[in-house]
Amino acid sequence: MKIENVKLRSRMNGRVALLCDCKNARYHVWLDPKTMDPGDTLCKNSIVARGHPDYFDTRRLETTSAPSQKIIDAMIAVCKSEGLLEKFVVKERKDKAKQQKEAEAYRRIRRIREAAPRMFDLLRDLIVDKCFAGPGGAPCAKADCRVCRVRALIDEIETNKMEDE
Ligand SMILES: [Zn+2]
Repeated sequence: MKIENVKLRSRMNGRVALLCDCKNARYHVWLDPKTMDPGDTLCKNSIVARGHPDYFDTRRLETTSAPSQKIIDAMIAVCKSEGLLEKFVVKERKDKAKQQKEAEAYRRIRRIREAAPRMFDLLRDLIVDKCFAGPGGAPCAKADCRVCRVRALIDEIETNKMEDE
């Protein structure tokens, strides 16, 4: 018996989905990663989509039957020999770290958005007429002058605001 595409996917209630393909069907069990117990059910799904002549609805097989056991033993053997559980845990950790990073980036943007009106008012009061680098102490209006750039942005915002109303 030849099984292919052995892999671990999602985790649910402490168990991990262990999948494989075998003879035009896809099988999975919910494996306990500590005890390698496959649970009670081996699910057999069609590889082809609904509507295809070879399509069949999900079959829930007893894990204790001899044919089920053959597939499960073969899946677990691959899982062990290829260190799939270890790889899965590493991937889970990476995914979680990535999610946390994205969530933090999102929260930061939200904090900036919430602070933006106060920041704008403070910046406007702070910056207006603070550049005296031009002739006669006027704003220099140079492209690389940060004070003048903030001034220009403030002017732009205030102008657009008036046009909107
Ligand atoms: Zn300037």
